[in-house]
Amino acid sequence: MNNITLNDLLNEIKSYNPEEVEIIKKAYLYAERLHSGQVRQSGEPYITHPLNVAYILSEMHADRDTVCAGLLHDTLEDTDITKEEIAQSFNQNVANLVDGVTKLSKLNFSSKQDQNYANTRKIITGITEDVRIIIIKLADRLHNMRTLEFKSAFKQKENSLETMEIFVPLAYYIGAYRIKSELEDLSLRYLKPDMYKKVEEQKLKIEESSIDCLGEMLCKIEKILKDRNIPNEIKVRTKNIYGIYKRLNEGHKLSDIHDLLSLKIMVDEIENCYKTLGIIHNEYHPINDKFKDYICNPKTNMYMSLHTTVFGPDDRLVQTQIRTFDMDKIASFGLTAYWDYQKGKARDVMQEDLKKKFQFFKSLTEINSMFGDNQEFVNQVKNELFADRIYAYTTKGDIIELPKGATVIDFAYKLDADIANTMVGVFVNDEYVPIDYVLQNKDRVRIVTDDLSFGPRKDWIDKAHTSLAKKKIREFNKNNE
Ligand code: MN
Repeated sequence: MNNITLNDLLNEIKSYNPEEVEIIKKAYLYAERLHSGQVRQSGEPYITHPLNVAYILSEMHADRDTVCAGLLHDTLEDTDITKEEIAQSFNQNVANLVDGVTKLSKLNFSSKQDQNYANTRKIITGITEDVRIIIIKLADRLHNMRTLEFKSAFKQKENSLETMEIFVPLAYYIGAYRIKSELEDLSLRYLKPDMYKKVEEQKLKIEESSIDCLGEMLCKIEKILKDRNIPNEIKVRTKNIYGIYKRLNEGHKLSDIHDLLSLKIMVDEIENCYKTLGIIHNEYHPINDKFKDYICNPKTNMYMSLHTTVFGPDDRLVQTQIRTFDMDKIASFGLTAYWDYQKGKARDVMQEDLKKKFQFFKSLTEINSMFGDNQEFVNQVKNELFADRIYAYTTKGDIIELPKGATVIDFAYKLDADIANTMVGVFVNDEYVPIDYVLQNKDRVRIVTDDLSFGPRKDWIDKAHTSLAKKKIREFNKNNE
């Protein structure tokens, strides 16, 4: 996909938004004229960069203004045009988006440490203002990472680190898995080139040796689904290189990674997801503890799917992921797919909606309101949001997402402040535990409350891990002094 042309972009737009082709073409010609004479370090005309960024956005089915802003995203910084002129030629939305992206990148060139923290904070909190700015920034970063070979060795490492620390978690949080896994692989390639090569070779070998096995399964399942009149599409997917590297690094053996190979099975509706699951378990023996129902329990970034790992032909472990076509869109593009469904809704309404649906937004707003200092803010986000996560269950089966190291106190405050403030005891997996018990993945938590309790003691603050819990405990103690 190296030589994207204007026609490729327009064809992509035509496939989901045919009435907007003309304005996208106008934005391209506009940007081309403004950047004329400028070249990238690769020697290519500069316009290839915004064109690729816009193409990545169109693959995500981004809306018209977002794609226009993708084409124009470097014009404010690199040419003589002004925000007002963009607003006149297009509209205020496009001008605001371009301006937002420019403000993010401008700070990038500062070498002062504190300004870097300010920049990082801007990038991270930008998501709560207009998430489209971040999506454009992610597309921009993705194309820059794809063309990183033309930069100096120092820049390569620096950009890769920043990508892993900031952009990969952001892509995960908005559910943009495709961008996330490509960014991870590109970063690893520059950060640990030898490792990257080694894992890449291993991955190729596995893919080669499993082609027959997967093909056989694919044909068999496809045929059964067809006989049952279940509309479907099946694709083979292998874990990305970074994903394999991470597991190996945690001490797993290659042969133990159960989701190395997957069959992605897409069907028309939810009911047929479960029918398909039955069909697969009937044909292939499942591994009990590898079954996951993310349809009943969606991930906090709205990912939905049924996962089951089975013994395929030749006793090979194969993971199958079963979901509807709509769920697949969200699995690949996350929030932007959601954006697509909600077409026409006011931006404010959608941002509000996101805060309700994505736990991440809420936590971020919380941290942002608590830390004035940029460095403290960035560190807290890294510890609390970008670190490894654990998932614990409420008694109703709802999932609460928490940073690794979180205690029962954090769980309680995330669940409900009133419950937390009257908490007198806790059962985890039916056993009584102290309230500073550190939660593990899949723990089931039952909180015992008593309206007559004295409320949270001050020393709970030190036993809590998240900003939310600490803040609520402080508030309670202030109000009851
Ligand atoms: Mn750019």
